Amino acid sequence: MTTIYQDRLEHLLTRLKLTAIRERLNNLLDEVSRKEMNFHEALSYFCEQEVAHKDERRISMGMSIAKFPFTRDLDNFDFKAQPSLDPKQIHELATCRWVGNGDALLLLGPPGVGKTHLAVALGREAIKKGYSVCFLTATGLLTQLSNAHREGRFDEKLIQLSKPKLLIIDELGYLPFERNAANLFFQLISKRYEKGSILATSNRAIGEWGMVFGDAIMATAILDRLLHHSHVITIRGESYRLKEKRKSGLINPEIFEKKNSDLQV
Ligand code: ADP
Ligand code: MG
Repeated sequence: MTTIYQDRLEHLLTRLKLTAIRERLNNLLDEVSRKEMNFHEALSYFCEQEVAHKDERRISMGMSIAKFPFTRDLDNFDFKAQPSLDPKQIHELATCRWVGNGDALLLLGPPGVGKTHLAVALGREAIKKGYSVCFLTATGLLTQLSNAHREGRFDEKLIQLSKPKLLIIDELGYLPFERNAANLFFQLISKRYEKGSILATSNRAIGEWGMVFGDAIMATAILDRLLHHSHVITIRGESYRLKEKRKSGLINPEIFEKKNSDLQV
């Protein structure tokens, strides 16, 4: 290609923000002629390259904005170790139709059974499907809400936390909320209701949420909105890490049983 055409094309590609095509222009043109593509094939090939590049960038930006505590996917979730879960149901959730519908998902169960792992894996799937995601622990979320309230920028905070299509709230119920905090939390849930999805993990059964939110009336108001369009998954069984340690002989089962029974006294 003559320089004048090359320059003109690069200029047009820059204006159209087709950076992947611009940066690989000569390689792509070589490939087109080597594979003897017709115009139609070449145009599709160029567009595919650009779309793949844009998707990759969007996904990596979405992952860093989400602030996951670690990287986990469904591929590295051992379903055999967790027979209380139905892999079909989890894979159906990984299609993220529930996120598109603005539904809620509650993952309940004791510590170590993979709630955060699944929350991160589903959050990553949602980003790949084009949704915006934000991951927070319940404690982190409450700190943000209380600080914003104290500093007179609560409405701003609510708007910010309403933007992501999926808000993941991890470890709800590890610490009970104070009354004022529960009220701020209720306002957030109301604001997002039927617009954005919430994925919450908790070590508490739903019946115990009155304790979490300080009083039963507040818990009912929050649960009313959370459970309206929701999927509730309860994971049973023992901690995955403990099970792995026990398998590798790092934990002496007799000592472990004794310690546990001592604790229950
Ligand atoms: P929870 O949030 O329920 O307390 P986590 O999701 O933090 O538990 O799990 C603890 C650790 O064990 C994490 O590193 C997680 O990846 C791993 N883990 C838990 N369950 C499984 C599983 N079924 N397959 C693979 N890794 C698991
Ligand atoms: Mg967890």
